Amino acid sequence: MKLKIILLLSCSFILAQQSLMGQQDPIVKKIIEEGQNNSQLENLAHELLDGIGPRLVGTPQMLKAHDWAISKYQQWGIQAQKEQWGKWKGWERGSSHFDMLTPRFQTLEGRQLAWNPSTSKKGVTAEVIGLPNVKDSLSFQRWLTTIKGKHILVSMPQPTGRPDYNWEEFATLASFEKMKNQREAQVKAWNDNIELTGYNSRSIIAVLENAGAAGIISSYWSRGFGVNKVFSARTKKIPMIDMGLEDYGMLYRLYESNQKPTVKILALSKDLGEVPTFNTIAKIEGVEKPDEYVILSAHFDSWDGGTGATDNGTGTLVMMEAMRILKKSYPNPKRTILVGHWGSEEQGLNGSRSFVEDHPEMLSNIQAVFNQDNGTGRVVRISGSGFVNAYDYLGRWLAEVPKEINNEIETDFPGMPSRGGTDHASFLAAGVPAFNLSALNWSYWDYTWHTNRDTYDKIVFDDLRSNAILTAILAYKASSDEETTSREKRVMPINQRTNEQEEWPNPRKPRRDGTQN
Ligand SMILES: [Zn+2]
Repeated sequence: MKLKIILLLSCSFILAQQSLMGQQDPIVKKIIEEGQNNSQLENLAHELLDGIGPRLVGTPQMLKAHDWAISKYQQWGIQAQKEQWGKWKGWERGSSHFDMLTPRFQTLEGRQLAWNPSTSKKGVTAEVIGLPNVKDSLSFQRWLTTIKGKHILVSMPQPTGRPDYNWEEFATLASFEKMKNQREAQVKAWNDNIELTGYNSRSIIAVLENAGAAGIISSYWSRGFGVNKVFSARTKKIPMIDMGLEDYGMLYRLYESNQKPTVKILALSKDLGEVPTFNTIAKIEGVEKPDEYVILSAHFDSWDGGTGATDNGTGTLVMMEAMRILKKSYPNPKRTILVGHWGSEEQGLNGSRSFVEDHPEMLSNIQAVFNQDNGTGRVVRISGSGFVNAYDYLGRWLAEVPKEINNEIETDFPGMPSRGGTDHASFLAAGVPAFNLSALNWSYWDYTWHTNRDTYDKIVFDDLRSNAILTAILAYKASSDEETTSREKRVMPINQRTNEQEEWPNPRKPRRDGTQN
């Protein structure tokens, strides 16, 4: 009797709940509640981006980030470990400070480039000169004999620090067109001149260094206000820095007006020799099919001009938060749910390619891979990656996602397999159903991607929350699906340019040794 009452009560409770929530799957409901009401994204972002910082391969911060992620997973009751896949040149960024000393004093805005060879604590003070206009490679060789002990400006000075959208808003049409035409002509003249030297903008750096330059100053504007892209140094012994557009342009004008500006470059760093490189792998073991996998994927490494907040801090945080949510709402999955936080994506998908190469036994048992890697925005596009039946399973899984999230997403079936760009491509090349969760760009390409402004303040947490919920639901549905996903590939289209049928991308070797960077 007692039992009956309890049963009746609990039945009516469930019914009442169902009528409130529609026909919603109770696990989906739990996922949404956990993601919305107990989000850990802000804490995680603060610890990772402010506490640890950027995660350039080979740096102590990258290693620290792996250990931090492992300890987070362990706190949540999820097994995690790092897997070594290679070795890299170890390096640690130190103090950078740049001053113009003459014709007047001004501190300059810039960054030493990654893996830059350290200056002494006194720095390197030298006159700043630009590249000459040359007739041919011979005249360039003659000029090279005059550059000993000088800092060389190697980038074209930009005619405007205003992004085009700003010109479009305020300039007269005629003046905007004039600026664009002049800039185009300037770029062409600059490139033609570099070509006459017999080198290109990359190979010329070593030539300048070997000719005795004191330092290299470049400026890689990212087409937004105050934004520069910051990659790696190409020098062996002398400093190579990136300078903000404004100060770079000023130095260039002073050089051109024969003011002979002098600049002190202080750029300290530590060469740490050879260090191991890792992926962090965490998993929630499957109960029914432990040897089948759903993989969540996001590269963990970054460039280090900023703190790698949107490339790919945000993808990382979404995947960690999805795992945390899944552990709470779906702790005993049917298939194993595994997350890969890959190292060295930025130098060529090296972590994920190594994982694919190192785990051949897993490849035929991967139900789906979900990757995220283009900034902080909410997911707006998912391609079927060239699998003809992806519309069926992805469509069914997406149907379980709340409308507010789902309505934003455009799907493209069968779509095409990516050949690179980000880590799901490593899996696609092995024929694994792998999908990229493409985000709304929030000015990603100009303002945050590989820039000095890729920092915490650019994160839009509401969009991340929605992405974590989406990812957790997709992972849950893929893990619990009655069916194994179909891997049937599309007929590849004829390439317009070559007139030949395109081929499915082939697996490519990771670069496992970055010690000779
Ligand atoms: Zn990225």
